[in-house]
Amino acid sequence: MNIPIAKTNLLDTEINAVLDPLRSGWLVQGPKVKEFEEKWSNFTGAKHSIAVTSCTSALHLSLAASGFGNGDEAIVPAFTWISTANVVEHLGGKVVFCDIDLGTFNIDIEQIESKITSKTKAIFPVHLFGLSADMNPILELANKHNLFVVEDAACGFGSKYKGRHVGSFGDTGCFSFHPRKAITTGEGGMVTTNDANLADKIRRLRDHGAAMSDLQRHLGARPYLLSDHPDAGYNQRMTDLQAALGSAQMNRADDIIAERQHLAGKYDQSLERLDWLQTPFRGDDYKHGYQSYPCLFMPDKINKGEISEINRIRNQWMDDLQKEGISTRPSTHAVHMLSFYQKKYNLRPTDFPNAYAADQCSISLPLFHGITEQEQLFVIEKVLENKN
Ligand SMILES: *Cc1c(COP(=O)(O)O)cnc(C)c1O
Repeated sequence: MNIPIAKTNLLDTEINAVLDPLRSGWLVQGPKVKEFEEKWSNFTGAKHSIAVTSCTSALHLSLAASGFGNGDEAIVPAFTWISTANVVEHLGGKVVFCDIDLGTFNIDIEQIESKITSKTKAIFPVHLFGLSADMNPILELANKHNLFVVEDAACGFGSKYKGRHVGSFGDTGCFSFHPRKAITTGEGGMVTTNDANLADKIRRLRDHGAAMSDLQRHLGARPYLLSDHPDAGYNQRMTDLQAALGSAQMNRADDIIAERQHLAGKYDQSLERLDWLQTPFRGDDYKHGYQSYPCLFMPDKINKGEISEINRIRNQWMDDLQKEGISTRPSTHAVHMLSFYQKKYNLRPTDFPNAYAADQCSISLPLFHGITEQEQLFVIEKVLENKN
């Protein structure tokens, strides 16, 4: 067996869709980007969608459009991909970490308010691994303290909170099309927002600050006249090659999500009774998108503070599974333990004990569209054999 942690699944029609822009000669942001954005808005229910080069670009443009700058503070969960925090640094701000809830791997609602100061301008709820953060209390706090809310929905394709797709709760939502995510364009990302002014601003910022896009110019009466640039923007445009690939996958969006939920359900059925392995959180208000299948190893021992011992046993177990041909991963990293943040803010692992525990004791199992029943049964069998 050789079962990777994730694997790209593209149909021939989707691969061939990339040839259209190559043949038409329109390679950069153009009609395919527009088509992909429209499908994305329809699917998520967001009023506006803006395709960009990555989720990191989406996060960056969102924060830049809010006016966030030097000395401003943003609240970021300590357990997430590093770029949620990096964009705050890129704009000269200060990252204020908040610990997570080990039951969900998402930001701990109870601790947010204690992190808010007069300088706090933004908060980044992350829908980690496809599980929505608990948005209602976050939005209440944001309202009360006038915070700009950027949902990091990198893993949020197909994730719902109280029946609504993520990315439509905050000021903006940011999605990723990296190959580790459920829909891919190689690199790529999307910003969603319900605010027309914010959408305009983000569109300009992604395109050198231009008041009018190339496509708008070419469709207009005088395409030879150049646009004005009201902002000193960036170049974070998605290409039409990427958008053609993304747009084609949207035609089976519901199937992709249903397949991931089906696979996760099979894991749940076989593994949730194990007391030494905590399977992903499920709740009535939450529809999980299962970007991955994150588990927590030996949760009882974590409460007793035996983190380094559990980490040693988990790593040994990961080695053993790899020898059987099964790839696993720590679910993600604790950003406050990475040397840039640790040094800059003088942080210790135990400053955010749950993020630290999640970093050391989490394990994600293989979950991807196209894993065979036999492969998944093999993973389940090997997990059940573990004696730790
Ligand atoms: C994947 C991921 C990102 C980064 O997405 P890119 O498209 O690679 O920039 C950011 N945040 C989270 C939570 C992620 O999982």
